[in-house]
Amino acid sequence: MLSVSTRPGRSFMGRLAKGDDLLQALENFCQEQQITLGEVRALGAVTRARVGFYNQEERKYYFLDLEQPLEILALVGNISLKDGKPMVHAHVTLGDAAGRACGGHLAPGTMVFACEFAVHEYQAEQMLARQDDPETGLMLWPKS
Ligand code: ZN
Repeated sequence: MLSVSTRPGRSFMGRLAKGDDLLQALENFCQEQQITLGEVRALGAVTRARVGFYNQEERKYYFLDLEQPLEILALVGNISLKDGKPMVHAHVTLGDAAGRACGGHLAPGTMVFACEFAVHEYQAEQMLARQDDPETGLMLWPKS
């Protein structure tokens, strides 16, 4: 396993604009603020969503397009470096009009109706940079 010790850095709260691409807007914010390590949380609503599920045997993401208004019940994510740039990895739980939940790995194509977010930056002695992980086929932090 790997862990790095972190200290709190800056914290931000904000809202995204209607029509923003949820993942892209969060990532743009982190890149503008040069947040290389941190956490993100958000709630709100989207007009449509695209979420992924990673098939572990096939080592391939399958994407689900949800063409309806949905509540963002919870978005949790982290921020670290990929190819030298801040990258947001986030999962969302979404709720429909009947209160049913679904969700997955947040993908581009999830469009904001309203969204309030919080970002917490961390300082660490060691950077966390994503790299190819042959065991899973994913871009993960180093094993040690
Ligand atoms: Zn994921």
